[in-house]
Amino acid sequence: MPTDAASPLAMRLRVPLSLTWKDAVQRMDREGEGILLAVDGQGALRRTVTDGDLRRALLASAAPGSTLADLPSNPPISVGEDADATAVRQLMEQHRISHVPVVDAQGRPVDLIHSRELAGRIWLSSPHLGEEETVFVEEAFRTNWIAPLGPHVDGFEREVAAFTGVGHAAALSSGTAAIHLGLLLLGVQPGDTVFCSSLTFVGSCNPILYCGARPVFIDSEPGSWNMSPAALERAFEWARRENRMPRCVVLVNLYGQSADMDALLPICRRHGVPVLEDAAESLGARYKDRASGSFGDVGVFSFNGNKIITTSGGGMLVSDDAALIARARKLATQAREPAAHYEHREVGFNYRMSNVLAGIGRGQLKVLPQRVQRRREVFETYRQAFEGVDGLAWMPEPAGSLSTRWLTCGVLHGPGAQARRDAVLRRLERHAIEARPVWKPMHLQPLYAQAPYFEHEPGTDVSAGLFEAGLCLPSGSNLSAAQLDRVVDHLRHALAAGASDALA
Ligand SMILES: *Cc1c(COP(=O)(O)O)cnc(C)c1O
Repeated sequence: MPTDAASPLAMRLRVPLSLTWKDAVQRMDREGEGILLAVDGQGALRRTVTDGDLRRALLASAAPGSTLADLPSNPPISVGEDADATAVRQLMEQHRISHVPVVDAQGRPVDLIHSRELAGRIWLSSPHLGEEETVFVEEAFRTNWIAPLGPHVDGFEREVAAFTGVGHAAALSSGTAAIHLGLLLLGVQPGDTVFCSSLTFVGSCNPILYCGARPVFIDSEPGSWNMSPAALERAFEWARRENRMPRCVVLVNLYGQSADMDALLPICRRHGVPVLEDAAESLGARYKDRASGSFGDVGVFSFNGNKIITTSGGGMLVSDDAALIARARKLATQAREPAAHYEHREVGFNYRMSNVLAGIGRGQLKVLPQRVQRRREVFETYRQAFEGVDGLAWMPEPAGSLSTRWLTCGVLHGPGAQARRDAVLRRLERHAIEARPVWKPMHLQPLYAQAPYFEHEPGTDVSAGLFEAGLCLPSGSNLSAAQLDRVVDHLRHALAAGASDALA
């Protein structure tokens, strides 16, 4: 693991053991952090010095010329560079201290963590409720519609269909359930081949295995990070040769950004293969003035807790085909035939959304436009803060599309990009800021190691490159300005440190 460069704060607080108590008091006063980091001749941390240490020392003895080396010995409590926020907090509680220095492999202090930072963890994407969710939920309680199904389910389906401009919608227990039913309704059967974007969350493709079908993964293109039309073309050529034409294509819209529908859909149409549009991450996004999720033969949304709006857990299958959605509703309720005694002719699932959760969804849908606007503002804050920083490129938003910036994502370039990205993530994590690498592509997952994969260009694996040096930053619509400042500050230092490392 390469050593993280020292944070400016850690640099400012480093003092030699030979510093006199008097000078230390002055230095402490000037720095205003209530702590100094006393280092030996090799720069290794020998002890932390607090206000209290100096006050007690001065009260006990006023020997002129006393230095930090004369303080009663007190081995420093510190952590290594890969410590996470939980470990640091435990240490603080155990020793009743409010600062923990971070030391590198040589014992040199490179960072300092304050207890107040750890008190308020900053999440990647946390639920953000509006004002009307409880009204809908209370109505469900008042009218005793606690069971699955009910008026909120019908209302939520109507409202999502209207919002996205699609004819019909079925509210389900999760986005994954919606993809599973969508695949079945497009006719996917055991042994079939299904194409799927590789750079995505595993919920996009696990349902292919639920159907007993065989996934084939398609790389991303650099222009949108979404499915590469060139790779899709080559996958179809291969499928023709191998007599493995796919039953459908799972087309994912990543991180709030629509895939390039004008390039991808004609390829699928030409081969007569239907599209399942996985818009789990792109509700509220637009492509050429149409709602994301409205382009596939079926579309899927997710209302999981980390998505742009949430029902705590839930999903929606949408389509212009009324009969298909009617069948989805039937399969999602154990495939009951219309008979009082519960008649069954085929296997079904328990995949419906409950009326209580649909109430939360109706309230959330009302604030979706504000949520999109705020997530875009969060992105804009990062963009402006790091304008002109070399070696950092944001996920593109191609002309003609509107991303929700569900997550603000970027990728580092240049020498040691992956190591620098890892150092950034480590630094944010120990300061209780949740950031993550970009999704690990499915073709690199052990679960899918056997699946065929088509690169953007032969020899150019775009999604693998994005995984290697990409990162997702805290992006919630409920991030405060102060929280955003905190992330930007740490990120700025981490990037600057990485840049100087790369030059060293
Ligand atoms: C979240 C997500 C899913 C799955 O949705 P759940 O509601 O969590 O089951 C599927 N695909 C993508 C791309 C997702 O991000």
